[in-house]
Amino acid sequence: MSINESVVVSADELSELCGEGYFNVLMKKLSQLIDADYTFVARILDSSTAETVSLWGNGTLHPAIKYHLKGTPCEDLRCSGESCILYNVAEQYPADQFLKDLSVEGYIGITLSDERGEVIGILSALFCKPIPRDQVESITRYFMSFANRASRELERIKYERMLKNEIQGLQATNDRLQIAQQVYDYSKDGIIVTNADNEIVYVNASLEAMSGYTLSELEGQDPRVLSSGQQDRLFYKGLWNDLAYKGYWQGEFWNRNKEGELYPVFTCISRIPDEHGRVKSYVAIHRDITSEKEAQALIAYQATHDALTGMLNRYEFNGQLDRELFKVRVRKNQGAFITLDVDDFKSINDTQGHSIGDVLLQMIAKRIKDCVREGDIIARLGGDEFAIFTEFTDMHIVEQLISDLLDAFRPAFEFEALRLRCNTSIGVSIFPQDAVDSHELFKCSDQALYEAKNSGGATYAFFTPELRVAAERHQEVRLRLADAIEQGLIEVKYQPIVNLVSGRMVRVEALARWTDEVLGPVRPDEFIEIAEHSGLIQLLGCQIAEIAINDLARINTHLNQPIGVSINRSPQEFVELADEYDVLPDLAKQAGVSPDLISIELTESLMMKDPVLAQRQLSQLKEAGFKLSLDDFGTGYSSLAYLKNFPFDVLKVDRSFVNDITEDEGDYVLVKTILEMAKNLGMHSVAEGVETEGQLALVEQLGCECVQGYFYSPAVSVEELLEYIAEYFPSQLR
Ligand code: C2E
Ligand code: CA
Ligand code: CA
Repeated sequence: MSINESVVVSADELSELCGEGYFNVLMKKLSQLIDADYTFVARILDSSTAETVSLWGNGTLHPAIKYHLKGTPCEDLRCSGESCILYNVAEQYPADQFLKDLSVEGYIGITLSDERGEVIGILSALFCKPIPRDQVESITRYFMSFANRASRELERIKYERMLKNEIQGLQATNDRLQIAQQVYDYSKDGIIVTNADNEIVYVNASLEAMSGYTLSELEGQDPRVLSSGQQDRLFYKGLWNDLAYKGYWQGEFWNRNKEGELYPVFTCISRIPDEHGRVKSYVAIHRDITSEKEAQALIAYQATHDALTGMLNRYEFNGQLDRELFKVRVRKNQGAFITLDVDDFKSINDTQGHSIGDVLLQMIAKRIKDCVREGDIIARLGGDEFAIFTEFTDMHIVEQLISDLLDAFRPAFEFEALRLRCNTSIGVSIFPQDAVDSHELFKCSDQALYEAKNSGGATYAFFTPELRVAAERHQEVRLRLADAIEQGLIEVKYQPIVNLVSGRMVRVEALARWTDEVLGPVRPDEFIEIAEHSGLIQLLGCQIAEIAINDLARINTHLNQPIGVSINRSPQEFVELADEYDVLPDLAKQAGVSPDLISIELTESLMMKDPVLAQRQLSQLKEAGFKLSLDDFGTGYSSLAYLKNFPFDVLKVDRSFVNDITEDEGDYVLVKTILEMAKNLGMHSVAEGVETEGQLALVEQLGCECVQGYFYSPAVSVEELLEYIAEYFPSQLR
């Protein structure tokens, strides 16, 4: 076969092939043609290494190998371009282990270059026998022809590889662009890109959704088309300033959508420079912060409003009041500060449950709101306390408001199957007449409110300087009383109660006495009431009961027949006691006093306050053997029902009736009636406040069983009482 023939044949076989496959065929063919033991094409990787692209030897293909060029005939090739060594090649290149291992004798090699003459590969053939000199020429020719083809293919592969790399690079860039586009598309934030002239060139889908405009509607426009116009020139000046000097700006905007509705956005704008540092574009990212703003507004609302009624809370009321007072002062007007406290709300809450209490408060709040004028400040201060501040020029307006408020409570509060009635007490102070700051106004109204409560509720009171004096006195008494109770400085004195039938002193009434080192003697009505209003009554009541019961035990050791003691108990004590265990039975037991010698004096107000509670607690005391007296009968809203339904043993005719019994016909008839009623109900009777012989004679004539009063004795100490008994009732002593 001539060279041409062999080349043609191989060209046919090769036309379909490329890359490794091409070289494999080429190497196989070459080794057959020149009778070489190994033929290979290697690619130059760098200056010191090459890698076979195809290695044919011993009738088979071998996997690619990488090898160092140093010390090999291939290294020399790079200088000479071609080389032919007929024999002893392994000896000439002792560093080439490959040649040694294969016992190579002959070597022929040629460099493969690209178009530009750069060496890109090597074509070699190895012979295990020396190359016959006469064949050198034909072998070289074949070699040259194959080298030509190999060069072209290797070059093609090189470019193919480069192209592949380039394509891959382009692909990566494209992917990045695609990702960037997806970021734009899927971003929840609205994105606007403008050119150097600040004309919109791009907006993403979120911005379209946010603004209601499409990209085509916005293209070419100034982004200010989105603005609400709420930002002034100064605002934009600051923005452009930042963009120019810092390269970015961020802040909040109010934008307007296509519909005309405003929406808040948090915006970051960045200036994008070109390669020369000139503005290429601006990118603005808008975050819709409507929900954040709503949450902020909600938080602000909750911090300033009462959750139940929606009225202002105390904190916000104070703040608004201070600002309002300032304005009222500037306008030289007056203001009324009105506080309301629902009467006996606690008992409704306790008996009906808190959820009904809440509904009631909501209804009350609504009625209060309906009474006030626009511009008035109203608040729920807490619990069942409300406040109103109203500016006025004419006092009639305030009077009308108060009367409206009281009227608003008159209709029953109806919900579900319930009909509840409750009233309110109202305290009023006037700015600037009574006080000039909110704190003092609060105090004044509170004092007035207290006054209104004390007059039985369902009414109002204006603050007066007297109230301030009273409040200050109240404050002082309260503080000193707390100390006095703690130090055990409260004394108990005893007023004899005489049975007119037997002529014996049958009982004493224990009456509290307190002489303070600064205030001097404080009347029991005063400090008892203060104790009731300041949470001290429970402690005080127990202290007095303990003293009285122990003193009674002591007194009775001197008498041949034991007498009893009446202990006054405040209704408030029962309320505070509520479900707790009463101490009285224990105290009696400890002192060795039979409970039937102890009579508890109560006024009707307890029954009025909480009939259910009263019924339960009085029955308990009754069961434990104590006696019950209804004190001050005839004052207050006496109700015959109380006498019938509650287990009283003794009825005490109030001293105010006894006082005038000799002069006032009406009082005489009243006392007569009360005494008859007591008799008919099987109750014992006591007339209090008997001071004169005339009064005594009359009550005795009317059938009163027992009397008590200065006619016999005021309340005295135990020692004085024993002396008194020794003088006036000696037969009762042992
Ligand atoms: P009260 O229970 O009606 O007590 C009778 C009051 O009448 C006592 O006044 C007594 O000193 C006074 N009194 C007695 N005889 C006469 C009289 O002939 N003429 C006049 N004008 N007054 C007479 P006191 O001791 O000042 O007590 C006033 C009120 O203070 C008592 O009225 C009672 O409601 C309350 N109080 C006194 N001690 C206690 C106590 O230990 N506990 C409670 N919860 N209240 C007490
Ligand atoms: Ca009494
Ligand atoms: Ca009384």
